[in-house]
Amino acid sequence: MDGTRFPDRPADLVLLGPPGAGKGTQARILQDRFGLVQLSTGDLLREAVAAGTPAGLAAREVMASGGLVSDEIVVAILSDRLATSDTAAGAIFDGFPRTAVQARALDALLAERGRGIVAAISLEVDDAAMVARITGRSTCAGCGEGYHDDFKRPASPGVCDRCGGTAFTRRADDAAETVAARLSAYHAQTAPLIDHYAGQGLLSRIDAMAPIDEVAAAMAAVVETALA
Ligand code: ADP
Ligand code: AMP
Repeated sequence: MDGTRFPDRPADLVLLGPPGAGKGTQARILQDRFGLVQLSTGDLLREAVAAGTPAGLAAREVMASGGLVSDEIVVAILSDRLATSDTAAGAIFDGFPRTAVQARALDALLAERGRGIVAAISLEVDDAAMVARITGRSTCAGCGEGYHDDFKRPASPGVCDRCGGTAFTRRADDAAETVAARLSAYHAQTAPLIDHYAGQGLLSRIDAMAPIDEVAAAMAAVVETALA
């Protein structure tokens, strides 16, 4: 890693890919490297569920079943988050947009701020590998760093590399039974956005079956080009 490179103008990136493709893992790496802010609608919704807000109460069952939460709720939650000042230098949209309606809403929200998407990166993976990726996932309760039982273990067992925390959580919707529903929602509603961004000349496809550091290097190259 060669330090953080802050872009000269706001740089907004969209990460596309099915659940388990590595969007969150790569977003955190890009966040450190380019000084952008990871904006995960999954994380925002889980916070809303935990806080028991009206949006969280409405989203809880849908999330548990692996379906998509309504565009109205997700766009509102994303819009609120985008209004906070830490996102002014640019954001990495992780798990958003997931529908055509959300893609249009994102364009409008960014345009209001004189911004626009500079790159959309599709993490390309085999569906068959996603069950193992998702069911082996855990997250540091202290700082949110993601781990995997086989593919990304902490250097010191049971201790987070990033913050030294020792408590790890697993998502309730990361059960094997829910993965099929989540993948099918992705293919039906989100995968068409790949063509949408390709049509705008913004799309890069990256082989996300490769190891995490190789994917990160390929992504950094795309972002460097987009910022040039
Ligand atoms: P997403 O945000 O797309 O749902 P994550 O970034 O949470 O996916 O990754 C899912 C799981 O797979 C995590 O446990 C992560 O550590 C692991 N993982 C991510 N990228 C890779 C990769 N390239 N190879 C192997 N495992 C990976
Ligand atoms: P994720 O953390 O991205 O895997 O998302 C977890 C769950 O939150 C998904 O299975 C959906 O139920 C919901 N969710 C997250 N982002 C969105 C979105 N952009 N649109 C609709 N539902 C979403």
